[in-house]
Amino acid sequence: MPKIVDILAAGPSHSFEFFPPKTPVAERQLEETLRELEPLHPTFVSVTYGAGGTTREMTHDIVTRINRETSLTAMAHLTCAAHTRAELTEIVTRYEDAGIRNILALRGDPPKDLNLPPGDLAHATDLVDLVRDTGDFSVGVAVHPEGHPASTDRATDRRRQAEKLARADFGISQFFFEASVWFEFLGDLRELGVTTRVIPGIMPVLNVKSVKRMAEMSGADFPRALEQRLRAVENDEDAMRAVGIEAATELCSELMAGGVDSFHFYTLNRSSATREIYSNLGFDA
Ligand SMILES: Cc1cc2nc3c(=O)[nH]c(=O)nc-3n(C[C@H](O)[C@H](O)[C@H](O)COP(=O)(O)OP(=O)(O)OC[C@H]3O[C@@H](n4cnc5c(N)ncnc54)[C@H](O)[C@@H]3O)c2cc1C
Repeated sequence: MPKIVDILAAGPSHSFEFFPPKTPVAERQLEETLRELEPLHPTFVSVTYGAGGTTREMTHDIVTRINRETSLTAMAHLTCAAHTRAELTEIVTRYEDAGIRNILALRGDPPKDLNLPPGDLAHATDLVDLVRDTGDFSVGVAVHPEGHPASTDRATDRRRQAEKLARADFGISQFFFEASVWFEFLGDLRELGVTTRVIPGIMPVLNVKSVKRMAEMSGADFPRALEQRLRAVENDEDAMRAVGIEAATELCSELMAGGVDSFHFYTLNRSSATREIYSNLGFDA
């Protein structure tokens, strides 16, 4: 199974993110989505991990099945929050035994109402070290171009992200809606001496209310102009979807004009929006 560090060294990367389905219907939906997106030949795909514990086994099952049964390279997300060191070592060892070579090492945010214990590792960097000590993996981390929501000052936040990237093979970003956010972030990382590849995460807004809520939670600024464009067609699902796809295409085009050649698409387990953006950008040619 290829390592993502080698895939990225070979050139531009277009990757897709999925989450473990919670119902049999959602499971079939994901299978269909995977079938429909496989012909786009993404450089890799990734599967999220429920920090609250609900989908922990499913991430392992889906990642190993994708790697075994499709032509795709799948990366497993793993969060350290609420896990003991022994549990994490066991999970990572199982991935190694299953031939998985790529892990996105995260802290995670377990839902507060579950009252889970804090876990042995405090930060994602500790998990990067644990994964590297446990097996032969390419290890990625999450980056936050607009700062992590819990950070109080930008300079410390940037420095911590730089330190994390120095230990990782690559970074994948939280979604954002304006190209200037990305270029400012890249400039700051460069000043801090970061040479690790970072890939922008792209979230097409197909439903203004749910994405606004996600943006609030992740600390991403939801630009007023984009919100107004979407609110103008709020009662027409197809029109709102079209605006969301147009806006994501515009963002990617602006990023490409500034030299970005790699993207990570948040698919929300659906194929059509990603396929349309892909086609608008000429990636399927
Ligand atoms: C691409 C991507 C994929 C994601 N996938 C998942 C997923 O699958 N499952 C899931 O539950 N969540 C996922 N998340 C969400 C992520 O878990 C949250 O954003 C979480 O709040 C932070 O995770 P992190 O790995 O960036 O944490 P960290 O890098 O540990 O940072 C968390 C906070 O700790 C601070 N910090 C870091 N190091 C130190 C230090 N040494 N001392 C003091 N403070 C420090 C940081 O500044 C930050 O405020 C994903 C996010 C992204 C961008």
